Amino acid sequence: MTMETPTQNNIAVIGAGVAGLAIACRLAAKGAKVTVFEKNGTPGGKISQIWDKGYRFDTGPSLFTLPELVTEIAPLDYSRLENSCRYFFADGTVFNFYNNLQKLEQECREKGIAEFGNIAKRLSESEQLYNLTANLFIFNSFHRLSNFVKEENRKIPLQLHKLDFFRTMHSANKKSFNDSRITQVFDRYATYNGSSPYKAPATLNMISHLEHNLGAYFPDKGMYSIVTTLYNKAVQLGVEFRFNTKVSCLEFDSKGKAAKGVKVNDQVLEFGQIVCDCDVKHLSQNMMPKGFKYPLKRRLETAEHSSSALIFYWGIKGEFPQLDVHNIFFSANYKNEFDHLFHKLSICQDPTTYLFISKKVVPGDAPEGCENWFVMVNAPANTGQDWKEILAKTRSAVISKISKALAIDDKPFDLESLIETEHIASPVTIEMNTLSSRGSLYGTSSNSMTSAFMRHPNKLKRFKNVWFTGGSVHPGGGIPLCLASASIVEKEMDIQNQKK
Ligand SMILES: Cc1cc2nc3c(=O)[nH]c(=O)nc-3n(C[C@H](O)[C@H](O)[C@H](O)COP(=O)(O)OP(=O)(O)OC[C@H]3O[C@@H](n4cnc5c(N)ncnc54)[C@H](O)[C@@H]3O)c2cc1C
Repeated sequence: MTMETPTQNNIAVIGAGVAGLAIACRLAAKGAKVTVFEKNGTPGGKISQIWDKGYRFDTGPSLFTLPELVTEIAPLDYSRLENSCRYFFADGTVFNFYNNLQKLEQECREKGIAEFGNIAKRLSESEQLYNLTANLFIFNSFHRLSNFVKEENRKIPLQLHKLDFFRTMHSANKKSFNDSRITQVFDRYATYNGSSPYKAPATLNMISHLEHNLGAYFPDKGMYSIVTTLYNKAVQLGVEFRFNTKVSCLEFDSKGKAAKGVKVNDQVLEFGQIVCDCDVKHLSQNMMPKGFKYPLKRRLETAEHSSSALIFYWGIKGEFPQLDVHNIFFSANYKNEFDHLFHKLSICQDPTTYLFISKKVVPGDAPEGCENWFVMVNAPANTGQDWKEILAKTRSAVISKISKALAIDDKPFDLESLIETEHIASPVTIEMNTLSSRGSLYGTSSNSMTSAFMRHPNKLKRFKNVWFTGGSVHPGGGIPLCLASASIVEKEMDIQNQKK
């Protein structure tokens, strides 16, 4: 990027989430003077960690795909997981979703799941879908018309029928698989961006390509090392970090078009350009000058939030060889679960439970003979529910579900007695810690075609020098998409500066 004036070269980034760190590195590498404002005392936002009594917990994301989006900024050691997830179905079947197709075929045969052919067909279709759309929908600004007429994107309108916009993920999956257990496995990909398979467009079935064909990975030192890697690189590139510093407001010129800077501790600090990595709904409601009408206010206010989560971080005195890094204990009635999440705004009695154990691949993450359990159920966004009551009910449901699934000879074990340390996260704490609207994990849900593909843009015409990155804007939530949004913003800033 050729920065034109010294002022333009002076850039503020609001938020040290993964996208904020990535854009700070990208701009500093091009010679910009970058200052990152972060309200917390440490970088990472939703990617955070807790240490307690020798246990280390990654508190947020645990599934890592498209690692090259990190390593194109800074080197990171990571390994590919052989088994992307171990599924415990309600009927007692345990199924390993191996990445290697030969192993997967054998697993299907051994578990009496006559679906290998359909799974392989689906993974190949997902790959085609991804290859057809990723360049336009993920790695470029979807809102810039010129992107549609680029040579590589011209074929998309001719192949619209292949994009599967008009069915839901579940109806496509139900048609593709005869075994309802495999339908449930593929329906689950809707939760990777906090949505419901019964509402989200089938185009999102491409997510399985990321996890299976391109691969599920894990950083050798845990998920938080993604943050330390990007943070250290930013520091090395001369980025200034101002921690424990909340930006209260963006300041504009009298026409309300060009931002002059940010307000911090009642003081206006001037910057030539501003990149917002904070939740855009929070920004529109709380960080605009008094009386300022945010351009997409109504759209943001009516958009449905993505799901949030209840998470129990348990230091467990014991080792469970029957568990892998990623484990899912499915509910018997998936539809009921999503009706609770998105209609009743509550958690059903028998929620699908995700159990992640980083100790399986990072031995130092728990004391010897112990495991660090991250136990999560999907939760609705916070609308003032009685979380104390929901937490208590969910905790006992989850303990009973895992105890039954891991019982040997039908004898459930006393899981409660093995819990040595406990920390809890809820939509309320997630909102408090990251200022993510209502504690949603991925900004707005992708429960309709428009919400999935018409997210808040990375740049609004109204603002001359304000940019948007991170999980609440295009292309979406999740580490890879947040990193893609940082790369889009870098490209778009380049285009604008060259035009001048
Ligand atoms: C429990 C959980 C599980 C998840 N699982 C996965 C997963 O397995 N795989 C995956 O890829 N993704 C997952 N995600 C989603 C992923 O973590 C997020 O999409 C991503 O980390 C969001 O990054 P971001 O750059 O948008 O910023 P955020 O992480 O949202 O950070 C924004 C930062 O901005 C700061 N901030 C906000 N407002 C201000 C202000 N006014 N002034 C100063 N600072 C401010 C906040 O303090 C915060 O640090 C999960 C998230 C959670 C919470």
